[in-house]
Amino acid sequence: MRYISTRGDAEASSRKTFTEILLGGLASDGGLYLPESYPRVTRAELERWRGLSYAELAFAVLAKFIDDIPSTDLKALVDKTYTAEVYCNGRDPARAREITPVRWLEPGLGLLELSNGPTLAFKDMAMQLLGNLFEYALAKRGEEINILGATSGDTGSAAEYAMRGKRGIRVFMLSPHGRMSAFQRAQMYSLQDVNIFNIAVRGVFDDAQDIVKAIFNARDFKARYRLGAVNSINWARVAAQVVYYFKGYFAATRSNDEQVAFAVPTGNFGNICAGHVARMMGLPIGKLVLATNENDVLDEFFRTGVYRPRGAADTWTTTSPSMDISRASNFERFVFDLADRDPAMIRTLWGRIDAGGSFDLSAAPYFSGLRKFCFVSGKSTHADRLATIRLACEKYGVTIDTHTADGLKVALEQRAAQMPTLVLETALPAKFEETLIEALGRRPERPAAMLGIEELPQRVETMDANVDAVKRFIARRVL
Ligand SMILES: *Cc1c(COP(=O)(O)O)cnc(C)c1O
Repeated sequence: MRYISTRGDAEASSRKTFTEILLGGLASDGGLYLPESYPRVTRAELERWRGLSYAELAFAVLAKFIDDIPSTDLKALVDKTYTAEVYCNGRDPARAREITPVRWLEPGLGLLELSNGPTLAFKDMAMQLLGNLFEYALAKRGEEINILGATSGDTGSAAEYAMRGKRGIRVFMLSPHGRMSAFQRAQMYSLQDVNIFNIAVRGVFDDAQDIVKAIFNARDFKARYRLGAVNSINWARVAAQVVYYFKGYFAATRSNDEQVAFAVPTGNFGNICAGHVARMMGLPIGKLVLATNENDVLDEFFRTGVYRPRGAADTWTTTSPSMDISRASNFERFVFDLADRDPAMIRTLWGRIDAGGSFDLSAAPYFSGLRKFCFVSGKSTHADRLATIRLACEKYGVTIDTHTADGLKVALEQRAAQMPTLVLETALPAKFEETLIEALGRRPERPAAMLGIEELPQRVETMDANVDAVKRFIARRVL
C-alpha cells in the first residue's frame, strides 16, 4: 500500500509508505495523502469479519492500509489500544468489551456509541491509536516529537489523553483562557503527566490558533524543536475511524446482503470521510447522511455543488461547538475521488479555495455522479438541537449530546423504511451540560470517573497572546 497526494506533485506523490506519512501533515505540495487505490474487502473477508472483536476487526482493517509495520507489532499496538478498560467509561463490562456498541432507539434506528473513551468524544477512537503508533514509530527511529496545537475543546483533550506518559512525545496545547467550560478545563488541566503542557492564552480561540500557525511558519524554530501536529487531516486518524463503520454495519445487519445508512454530525469532514472510505472498500453502506449545524458549508455543497468556505467572522458560535467549522480540512479527499482522482482538477479548485475563493461543480459531469457516492445532507439549528434532545429523551428514554442531536435530526428527515440507520454518537451529553439543562431542565448524568474533576489540582500556564512568549516556554522545556 502506497500513498499519493491529492495535488499530484511528483515529489509529494512519490508513493510514500504509511509510516512515512504518519508523522507528517500536509504533503509538500499542499495536498492530502490518500491510498493510491482503496483496498477492497472480499465477500469471504466480510463473512469472516462479522464475528471479530473490535480489536481483531481493527487489525484486519488497518492491515490493509499499513504494510510497513510488522503484523505482530501492529497487532500488539491495536490490542493495547482497543481495550474494555480504555473504552469503559463506567459502563457495564459486557458493553465496554464491544468498544462501540449500538444502542437501539427503535427498530431500524440506533446510535453507534463512539464516545466511551477517556474524553467522552469520538476523537478518542482514532487519537488513542495515534498515540501508540507515534510512540512506536519514534522509538524505531530514535526520534522525538513535540506536538503543538490549539484547541477550543475536544481535539486538545483527546490528544493529551492519547499522548500522556508516552516516550519521545511532549504536547504543548494552547487554549483560550476562561472560554472553555469548567468541565473541559478540568479535563485538560488536571493532567499531571510531565510530558503534557497546557497553555491558557489570554484571548479567543483564533488568537491561540494564530500563534500556532506563526510558530509552524517559523521554519528554523519548527525544525530545531521538532514540532509536529495531530490535526484531523492525519491519514492514520481517518483509517482508524474506518473500523467502526464495519463494526456498526455488522451490529445492524444479519447478512452482508443488507445495506445500512450512517448519519454523521460533521465539521472537518474527517469522520464521514472514513465512512466514504469504508464504502469504497466494499462495505455495503447504502447512504451517508451528512449533518451540519448552522455552519452549513458542506450541506450547501451537497445540495448545490457550490463549495464556499467562510471566514472566522462568518462562522457562528453554536451549541454544537465542535462542528463550528467553515473550511472542512478533509473535504479535498472526497472531491479528489469525485473528480475521478484528477490532481490537476484539485490544484485548480483548491487554488481558488486557498486564495479565499469558492468553486461551483454544479455543471461538472461528476456532480451528477454524486449520487453514486451515496451522500445526502441536511442541517440543524439550535432550536432543532433542543427539540431533538427532548424527543430522544421523551420518546426513547435516551439522553444525547448536542452534536449527536444534529445527526439524529437529519437522520430522521432522511430515513428510508427499508434500510437501518445508525446515528454516530460523537460525544456524551455530560460534556455540554449548559445546553442539556436548557433542553431538559436537568443536568445530564456524568460517568463516575468524571465526578468532581473540577475540584482536582490543575496544571496550566496562563500567558498573553504573544508568539515569542510561547516560543520561550517551549524552548525552555525542550532540550
Ligand atoms: C470533532 C467533532 C465532530 C466533527 O467531526 P469531523 O471529523 O470534524 O467531521 C462532531 N462532534 C464532536 C463531538 C466532535 O468532537
